[in-house]
Amino acid sequence: MHSNSIFEHTYASYADYIASILGKGKLHAGMIYEEFFRRGLVTANGAAFDNAKLLLDAILSATDFTLPVVVREHTDGTTRKILLRTHDHFEVESVLIPMQAGGTLCVSSQVGCRMGCTFCETGRMGLLRNLTAAEIVSQVFVARHRLQFAVRNVVFMGMGEPFDNYDEVMRAVRILCDPKGLGFGPRHVTISTSGRVDEIRRLTSEGAFAPNLAVSVNAPTDEERNRLMPINRRHNMQQLYEAMRAYCQQTGRQILVAYVLLREQNDTLEHADRLAAYLQGLNIKINLIPYNPQTRDRFAASAPEVIDAFALRLRQYGYRTLLRGTKGQGIMAACGQLGNVKLRAEMRAARATTSEGLNQIA
Ligand code: SF4
Repeated sequence: MHSNSIFEHTYASYADYIASILGKGKLHAGMIYEEFFRRGLVTANGAAFDNAKLLLDAILSATDFTLPVVVREHTDGTTRKILLRTHDHFEVESVLIPMQAGGTLCVSSQVGCRMGCTFCETGRMGLLRNLTAAEIVSQVFVARHRLQFAVRNVVFMGMGEPFDNYDEVMRAVRILCDPKGLGFGPRHVTISTSGRVDEIRRLTSEGAFAPNLAVSVNAPTDEERNRLMPINRRHNMQQLYEAMRAYCQQTGRQILVAYVLLREQNDTLEHADRLAAYLQGLNIKINLIPYNPQTRDRFAASAPEVIDAFALRLRQYGYRTLLRGTKGQGIMAACGQLGNVKLRAEMRAARATTSEGLNQIA
């Protein structure tokens, strides 16, 4: 997508962009923007357009409304995973999760990921490229206006480490939160990180614009976390703790701590005790995620009674602990498990044949 893509723009920047191209049309561009993001199409039926057909044509010609194509869709009956093809033939995934309090859309921020978490399908793909703000925003637009999914919350928990693509992700957040566009409140947008301490601090300094933060902790000690998440060797758990504490204190927000339960790796009651001690003093709630193993996987899922005991132990320490049900498991849409084997093979093929992809591998 290019700068003439409407998905690159806030209301104000689109109006300015049209005025810079045509020398006029700011007001009409704003009306087109509002109608397009609110209703999903442009009719330009209002009285303001009655005598402005030439201007309307000029604005529409100067604007790219192209959306990524939905190439595949899988559902387990409730959760839907969709694959969208980018203009350069990569595929990215979004997951539509119906919730009682309104739908949650899980979006991708990168094609693949370079963080290399050992339990993660996407991590095994490596990074092919960052997504642009427009490509992120268009995932939301497709879900809301093409698939008619009532998106209330957007979570950056799909493919990629959002903080590895900080500028485009935050640009996308600003577009998503434009009241004259898709109109999300920052509290309805959550960015999930594997623990980029530098960028947690940067997010903290965004003030009122700071979205919610989720942090994948997944282990209670440096030694164990180093084995699961290579980022821990760069930003250790003490540094992570301090960055989380600063976020809580300066934004007044609660952090969602994600913890994927892996059999005999991080799921014993001793792990729960150490996790409880590590998180002490933070304003957090904990999201426990049962692992969803793949064929020939080196990790296995924890037994249901082990998961229940782990959750109970954390609750006994006073932590609000959510236990993610089976939603999304059948289609590999659980946290850190986007990117399936077939997709990985396709990505490898794309990497071998797409020079643009090759140039952008980190
Ligand atoms: S869990 Fe997240 S950060 Fe880690 S490799 Fe997977 S997508 Fe990347």
